Amino acid sequence: MRILIIGAGVIGVTSAHYLRQAGHEVSIIDAAPAVADGASHANAGQISWGYASPWAAPGIPLKALHWMVSAHPPLLIHGSTDWRQWRWLRWMLRNCTAARYRRNKTWMLSLARYSQQALAALRTETGLRYDDGQRGTLQLFRTQKAMDASTADSHVLTTLNVPHSLLTPRECVAREPGLAHMVDGLAGGLLMPGDETGDCQLFTHALANRLQQDGVALHLGTAATQVVQAGDRVTGVMVGGRFHAADAVVVAAGHETARLLRPLGLDLPVLPVKGYSATVPIVDAERAPVSTLLDDHYKIAVTRLGDRIRAAGIAELAGPDHRLTPARCDTVRHVIADLFPGAADMAAIQFWTGLRPMTPNGVPLVGESGIKGLYLNTGHGTLGWTMACGSGRLLADIIDGHVTDIDASPYAWPRPFAE
Ligand SMILES: Cc1cc2nc3c(=O)[nH]c(=O)nc-3n(C[C@H](O)[C@H](O)[C@H](O)COP(=O)(O)OP(=O)(O)OC[C@H]3O[C@@H](n4cnc5c(N)ncnc54)[C@H](O)[C@@H]3O)c2cc1C
Repeated sequence: MRILIIGAGVIGVTSAHYLRQAGHEVSIIDAAPAVADGASHANAGQISWGYASPWAAPGIPLKALHWMVSAHPPLLIHGSTDWRQWRWLRWMLRNCTAARYRRNKTWMLSLARYSQQALAALRTETGLRYDDGQRGTLQLFRTQKAMDASTADSHVLTTLNVPHSLLTPRECVAREPGLAHMVDGLAGGLLMPGDETGDCQLFTHALANRLQQDGVALHLGTAATQVVQAGDRVTGVMVGGRFHAADAVVVAAGHETARLLRPLGLDLPVLPVKGYSATVPIVDAERAPVSTLLDDHYKIAVTRLGDRIRAAGIAELAGPDHRLTPARCDTVRHVIADLFPGAADMAAIQFWTGLRPMTPNGVPLVGESGIKGLYLNTGHGTLGWTMACGSGRLLADIIDGHVTDIDASPYAWPRPFAE
């Protein structure tokens, strides 16, 4: 089949990999001048199977109210005249019950675990390197109250068979010696030893290069303006005023997916949720993180990527806005300096914002669209890097009509988000 993929982020490129592997003629188009120029550009680098959880969780509505007056709020909601934003928020709140959280987490974990196997196989098969590490994620708690809450969450991890352990402050420092200076300021940690790290942009570039050598056509700097439907099926895409015919079209256009597909009558609840990151070069490796830490208080992840530290987090519901707000940048900078003082050259800090394509319950849309020949791979929110390989492989099996390795029904469209 001739398959055209819209979007050369980590999701589009991994989709291309599995579709090419299955023998299809694949091309990718992206509006940006480079691969991984959207949300996949400078994310936190966590490939976090163990941490795969929806943001829509019990207690979040109350916490969101508290964060409105916090100096370093991890979540911000700006007023909007867009009714879709308010619908999305209403649906997100409906997913904050214990039962829905558990169900959504189970679905996310299933795809994340599948992704873990797929990424490991891809690495073995291709030998790709991307400042990757396989040394786990450590979630840090600064108060006993937060530590106690994590004990409750660790029960969920036990029932879902996710390897994890609760650590004392000293055990945290044993894993991350750079934290020695703040051992008395910690209440403990939750370790997910199976988690990995890696630079998503490096990975996506390296994979895209391989795909090009393998005959995948990559068209950058050209936006798809319309997905063309004739009768009951999609026949191709309009790009720069020209029609590109295809037997199947995969839309992996991140947060733009919803807007692009609205003219076809698809009303996907995928919104841009803005996040921030900062990258700094390491000057003292002994003081730097070994792997990924998640500071639970600030909800900021700090990751070692080769000779750099990357810190990222914050969720801002502000529409498709890429501006760097100084106060948010300060939060990210503060966490690096607080956890790992002296480890990095803070004068060389580079800030970035990205727009996560997010569904109200955190579960992505992977599979058929309800229109023949049109497929979706989007809505991975905070965990697109973590779920990329599994989503690409699952989609390739769906397109080929194969029996899928995991149950694909939770990711199918249409589906209710507020039942
Ligand atoms: C601050 C931050 C930290 C994060 N940290 C992590 C993390 O640690 N671990 C993790 O797993 N995930 C993380 N994420 C989430 C992850 O980065 C995203 O889920 C993932 O990058 C989404 O990939 P994507 O390919 O769907 O979207 P994108 O990377 O945004 O790619 C979509 C592409 O589609 C293109 N496009 C859009 N419209 C069109 C059009 N009309 N025509 C042609 N091309 C088009 C865009 O140019 C873009 O390149 C983080 C995100 C942010 C913002």
